[in-house]
Amino acid sequence: MRGLRMTVGCCALLLAGALAAQSVQVKDVRIAHTGERTRVVMDLDGDTTHNLFTLANPNRVVVDLSATRFAGTRARLPAAIGLVGNIRVADRENGSARLVLDLDEAARPKSFALQPGAGFGHRLVVDLYPLDAAPAAVKTSPRQAQSRDLVVAIDAGHGGKDPGARGRGGLLEKDVVLRISKRLAQLIEDEPGMRPYLTRSGDSFLKLGERMRRAQNAGADLFISIHADAFSDRRVRGASVYVLSNKGASDEAAKLLAERENQADLVGGVSLNDKDDTLAAVLVDLSQNASLEASIEVGDLLIDELGRIGKVRKPTVQKAGFKVLKSPDIPSVLIETAFISNPHDESNLQSVQYQQRLARAMHNGIRDYFYANPPEGTRIAALAKQQRSEREHVIRRGDTLSEIAQRYNVSVSSLRATNRLSSSRIRIGQVLRIPPTRGI
Ligand SMILES: [Zn+2]
Repeated sequence: MRGLRMTVGCCALLLAGALAAQSVQVKDVRIAHTGERTRVVMDLDGDTTHNLFTLANPNRVVVDLSATRFAGTRARLPAAIGLVGNIRVADRENGSARLVLDLDEAARPKSFALQPGAGFGHRLVVDLYPLDAAPAAVKTSPRQAQSRDLVVAIDAGHGGKDPGARGRGGLLEKDVVLRISKRLAQLIEDEPGMRPYLTRSGDSFLKLGERMRRAQNAGADLFISIHADAFSDRRVRGASVYVLSNKGASDEAAKLLAERENQADLVGGVSLNDKDDTLAAVLVDLSQNASLEASIEVGDLLIDELGRIGKVRKPTVQKAGFKVLKSPDIPSVLIETAFISNPHDESNLQSVQYQQRLARAMHNGIRDYFYANPPEGTRIAALAKQQRSEREHVIRRGDTLSEIAQRYNVSVSSLRATNRLSSSRIRIGQVLRIPPTRGI
């Protein structure tokens, strides 16, 4: 099995090298507003494929260009006009380039590629059209709706007759993840505008589907499943964050892990392969895309926070076919906090201080996510709006990210995450959103 994994690693490396060599460069980003339409044009030095999708709360249009880099363009983006409130770009670790248009109101996007001609090279065009104004009667009273608390469903993995992974020192996954879950629940409880929901609060066995059903019944806005990994190679250690994939696992280890975690249902004597289950899974996959994007976003923030306190096995969100994460509308992540099979990780997990640090890291990641993407009609939405207007920083000559972070008592990483900065480069006149101050 180790031989196989080595081979997979080598191929991935070769592939990454080939992609880098063939990357299309975005030469320029232009924006124009005529009549009712706002047009964003990316000038490219080659042909590329793209994928466009929209996100709500706040309204965004996201364009991913495969095997493309923004490189120098990032430093000289045009000022937003028309229906676009802000333009952000990032080169992603998978080799794709992402353009995000923050919209002042929901708009209807249309995108198309243009071949070279009339003095221009390859171009990708994104047109935005205003939606027809909604009837006034549809609008609800914002004052009344803003009182809702966000619900964070915390799912301690395994339990009861399913102990999960077991450390050499005897530590059981089901026990340690419950302790971490309860610490996280306490931090969420203390956070204004948020409420925790534990899928299990004792040592009880729960089928995988039941966990998600409970979270849905509790009105969860986020589902976070907490685990501790094990692997035959005891040297492997560190935390990982997974999201559901509807296209197959992103690496061999993720696939193996998904198989093992999914087998928990068999302990209860229920096969995952019965027809209804398969049908349900297919239906869920079809409607999964919007919350998958959100899951990846919250996963990125969690990795960022976990990386601040300890070792992270993989620097990006991993995708795996976890049954526990199949939810049609709730952003969901599964965190393997550490490798219980590694002696160092096992002793960390046993320490109350480390459990608390893990819970704090998750709490910070969750808070960063919801302050950046507050669901409409929640207290957090109102708090985030208030904070945004109070806490913006316009870059002046000589400013650096670390100075700004220090001034507002936030971390550089959360500053970068909140503003989707993929490097430490900032430009004069750029407006940075300042994330909430840390509770550590
Ligand atoms: Zn587990």
